[in-house]
Amino acid sequence: MERREAAHQNGGMTASALPLIAIDGPSGVGKSTTARRVASRLGWQYLDTGAMYRAAALAVHRAGLSLEDRPALERLLAGLDLAQNQGRTFLAGEDVSEAIRSQEVTRRVTPVSADARVREVLVEQQRRIGASGRWVVDGRDIGTVVFTSACCKVFLTASPEARARRRFLELQAKGQSPDFEEVLEDQRRRDLADSSRAVAPLRKAEDAVELDSSGLSLDQVVDWIVARHQAHP
Ligand code: C5P
Repeated sequence: MERREAAHQNGGMTASALPLIAIDGPSGVGKSTTARRVASRLGWQYLDTGAMYRAAALAVHRAGLSLEDRPALERLLAGLDLAQNQGRTFLAGEDVSEAIRSQEVTRRVTPVSADARVREVLVEQQRRIGASGRWVVDGRDIGTVVFTSACCKVFLTASPEARARRRFLELQAKGQSPDFEEVLEDQRRRDLADSSRAVAPLRKAEDAVELDSSGLSLDQVVDWIVARHQAHP
């Protein structure tokens, strides 16, 4: 990764930065949609790291593995074949884009993504992917762990109610009949798990800019990030 770190001028000081926009934040804040739109506006590529953790959780589930069975988990991770192309996620060549969004996988991804060994393997893959080209990457630890020298780091937030409302409407649009309080409670559990885990907890990087998107439209958020990036390339 160091190979492609270009020295650039930043407010009169020389800093080393990677041509990569890191977008971190809690569940349901709209990171994926935002990151995809920012990437398309800039002509950059987009990497959805949440989809990678979801695909890993699906693989663990399909193999009937317990995370305590370390040798079996090591074998599975050694052969884990993940790919993303045109917004789709593939596991060993199979398009699992829909399967990884199921309630079952959403429930199972929390313990899988808290496993230090799983994170080590996926972070290594993410760094390999991000090492060529220009990327917009979204997740929980992109600015704090995976790409600490990203040229632009955004920590996207929104009130718990605004995030849960968004998720609620998404589920309704899929023909489901969600209960708002349940959606809010499920989100609260995920927030707590993501921010209190021992490895790579969700937190804002010191050099990230925070954007509260509660009262903003998707277009406004995308415009803000693109403008911020262009002002501090
Ligand atoms: O972003 P998304 O909700 O699809 O992510 C699925 C899960 O993967 C999250 O609940 C989070 O625990 C985990 N995750 C993570 N680190 C990332 C991206 C996602 O731990 N960089």
